[in-house]
Order: sequence, then C-alpha cells, then structure tokens
Amino acid sequence: MSSYIAAIDQGTTSTRCMIFDHDGKIAAVAQMEHEQIFPKAGWVEHDAKEIWNNTRKVTAEALAQKDLKASDIAAVGITNQRETALVWDKTTGEPVYNAIVWQDTRTDDICDELGALGGGAERYRDKVGLPLATYFSGPKVRWILDNVEGAREKAEKGDLLFGNMDTWLVWNMTGGVEGGVHITDVTNASRTLLMDLSTLDWDESIAEDMKIPMSMLPEIRSSAEEYGKVRERGVLGGVPIAGILGDQQAATFGQVCFEPGTAKNTYGTGNFLLLNTGEEKVMSKNGLITTVCYKIGENKPIYALEGSIAVTGSLVQWLRDNLGLIKQAPEVEDLAKKVEDNGDVYVVPAFSGLFAPHWRSDARGVIVGLTRYANKNHIARAALEAVAFQSKEVVDAMNADSGVDLSELKVDGGMVGNDTLMQFQADLLGVPVIRPEITETTCLGAAYAAGLAVGFWKDEDELRKQWAEDKRWEPEMDSEQVTALMTKWDKAVKRTLDWVKD
Ligand code: ADP
Repeated sequence: MSSYIAAIDQGTTSTRCMIFDHDGKIAAVAQMEHEQIFPKAGWVEHDAKEIWNNTRKVTAEALAQKDLKASDIAAVGITNQRETALVWDKTTGEPVYNAIVWQDTRTDDICDELGALGGGAERYRDKVGLPLATYFSGPKVRWILDNVEGAREKAEKGDLLFGNMDTWLVWNMTGGVEGGVHITDVTNASRTLLMDLSTLDWDESIAEDMKIPMSMLPEIRSSAEEYGKVRERGVLGGVPIAGILGDQQAATFGQVCFEPGTAKNTYGTGNFLLLNTGEEKVMSKNGLITTVCYKIGENKPIYALEGSIAVTGSLVQWLRDNLGLIKQAPEVEDLAKKVEDNGDVYVVPAFSGLFAPHWRSDARGVIVGLTRYANKNHIARAALEAVAFQSKEVVDAMNADSGVDLSELKVDGGMVGNDTLMQFQADLLGVPVIRPEITETTCLGAAYAAGLAVGFWKDEDELRKQWAEDKRWEPEMDSEQVTALMTKWDKAVKRTLDWVKD
C-alpha cells in the first residue's frame, strides 16, 4: 500500500516537490530556483527546458530524502504558475520560444487590437470571466505565432502545441515525443481567455479572433482524475498523475475553502485572493475576475471570484536585488519596524501595470510623499504596506460584488511569516487574519486533488479535519485611521495611472 502523495509545484521563481503523508503532513521537500529572464522592460521569460530538468531533479531529491520508491507514492498532483504560456514542437519536444511569464506586458498592443474588434477590454468577459489583459495566456500565444519565424506555418500544419506549465510537465512526464498526453485542467484553461466558463470547452470564435489554431490547444480535463502514468524510466515511473490545479486554486483547495463564502489570500510573488462562490459564476462589477476554482472528477465545477495583484513579494525582491536595501527578504521587516509609521511615503509597485481592481497595463510604479526626512526604513515600511493596501482594495471589491462582507481571511504564502505585515493587514481589513499550521497550501491542494482522485483520501470532510490554525492577528486600528490611510493610498494609485508610458 502506497503511503504518500507527491505534489509538484512549478512556481514563478522555483519548482518544488513535496511528499505528503496520509495526515497531510510534509514528509519531504526539495526546491530549485530557475532563471528569471528579462530581455526588455516589461518582458519576463522562463527557459522551459530548465524548468523540466529542475522538476526531475527536485522530484528525485524529495524521494531520496525519505528513501522512497515510486511504489511508495499513490499519485502525483501538479500545481503551477498560471497563464505562463509555452509553445513547443511536438515532433522534437523543443520549445519554439521561451515561456512568456504571466507578468509580461508585451501583448499590450495585441490586447488593444482585440478590444478594438468591439467591446474593448470587456469583449470576452461574459464568456470567459476575464478582461482582455496582458496577464492571460491567449495573447501570449498569438505573440509567439506572430513573432517567431516559421511558427505560424508549423502551427497550422498541426506540429505545435500550446500549454501552461502544467501541460508542459504532464506531456513530458507521460513520454513527450513518444506519446506524451496533451491535456490541461479547467482551472488552468480558465486563465487563457479562450475557455467558455459555462461549457468548460475552448471557444472557437475567440481562438479565431486570436488566430490560434485549435489543434494547438490541450484537451480540458477535470482537476482530479487520472490523466496518465509517469513513464517507466522517470523517477516516479508508473505513478498516476491524478490532480492538476493552477497554483492559486490549489492554495484555495489546500486551505479547505470548500464552502461558498470562504476565501484565502496568498502572499507570494504576487497576491491572489480567491473567494469560493460555489456552483454560481459571479460576474464582477468591481474589477475582479471570475474563474474556475476546481472541478473534482465528474462533480459540477466550483467557481471563484479572484482578485489578482501582480506585485507584492516581488516588490521585496526588488528592494533586495535592484536597490540593495536588504540582503534577504525577511530583513525588510527589521527595517520597517525601526519606524513607527510610513513617514507619509507610499510605494505603488505597478511594475507590470496594475491588475485587480484597476486592470491598467499602462500604469507604472511610483514612490510618492518623499521628503528629506524619509529614509530606507520608511521605504521598507511603505513597501510592506503596499502589499496590504492592494489586498484591501481587492477585499473591498469582493465585498461589493458578493454583497456579503468577508468575516475573516485565511492567509498563506512566503510573506505570512512577516508579523508586521499581517498585523497591518488585519488592521486595514478590520477582520481577523488567520494562518494555518501548513502554509504550503499550494502543494497541499495539488496533493489533495490527486489523493481524492485515487481514493487515498475519502472525501472533502476528511481533508477539512486536517486544517489547523497556527496564528491569528486581530484588528486593532480605528476606522478613521484606516480611512485616512486608504485616502492617501488612493491618491498614490492615481499617480501611477497618470503616468503615460512611451
Ligand atoms: P512564489 O510561490 O510566488 O514563488 P513564495 O510564496 O515562495 O512565492 O513567496 C516568496 C516571496 O515572499 C518572495 O517574493 C519574497 O520576497 C517574499 N518574502 C519571503 N519572506 C518574506 C518576509 N519575511 N517578509 C517579506 N517578504 C517575504
């Protein structure tokens, strides 16, 4: 009897493999970063071959830590950075171009062009739940076909395949050029701008608008079922791949947000707040997006409202790498704690434009309120506060859309070890912020999906019992102060929208 589930999290900055036992506890973990390629301002790419190699290495390492064999693993689940788009040649297995990462804004003009066909940025929202924005996969595929020599002809011949990173990994794991399975799950498909949220199938008319041949698109499957087995010679040889969820949906699943009205916010490279809306697709009037939360096997799909924020943890990385203000991310808190407040300094990190609730790809970042008094501590504090301010904007939009105020917020991700940030977040929101014992909810969610599919776990109730609270932050700030801070923040955001890019 296999006693573990493996989860592979192909994230924006790294790839990791975690092994979970039946209690949902972490038995082993291995992780490797990959290169962030910035060829031009606004462009972000990943080397897909590097990512596939890293995936194999971390999987082998995680298994080795516990001396486990493939036969000890009941199933493997995959979770991935969403929207990051790759096109490869199915006859050679070679990518035709680097993966274009979700933060990349090069498709700005393509999005404008598509909007000009009628309907502007809202052209496809009724069908796909998303605004036309550089964030999503479809326009990135169009860019590759338009700009890589020979790509369009090959695509029209049926030689090229498109996939997000889940699709790329599954295709390689199941044999690649020797019969790899070309599939994705509903949650990833719901981030392409190409899937109809009601039929859960590709919309041919949108693909036609984007000039993307249907033959490139993977088959859309549920988030928990057996898609195929890992090829014998792989480290997980023979193990069924049985779960796929986009990273944010996986975190929602790992936080056991199974009831309508439950929500989580993940603080990673960016922030992503998802509210489970059950079988109902709530169309946002306040700048949020509608997405598939998960679909377990034959069950009906469960939808979510999502507030996506492009830059939060990556602002801390920017303080580290571009300004040299800190050597390691957690040091940002030491600086921030040296001052009592932000000294009236506000940082709006519109590095990839602004996502929810503004959706302005032309916005660019600002630091405002500088005086001779301001120092690096204020900037560090303002950077942390920017994370919480952006999340507050999203929660306000969510409350307005759903008509029900959020009563608490479950949190996870790399930044939730930051007390100063979590307290400020609770203060701004006026509701408790709650961190679970296992904050690796992304991997856990993917493991849960795979484990349910193969009967390793019986049902959602069994999973619900595994969730345990580690720490909660109660709001302490009075509402007048919150209003005063938000008014200043709104003014700072306006400055980023005033800025006209060349
Ligand atoms: P992802 O899964 O998106 O790659 P993680 O959830 O691993 O990201 O979170 C990493 C991010 O969190 C990095 O951007 C890093 O700058 C930030 N981070 C990590 N620890 C802290 C901390 N103590 N305070 C502030 N930011 C942090």
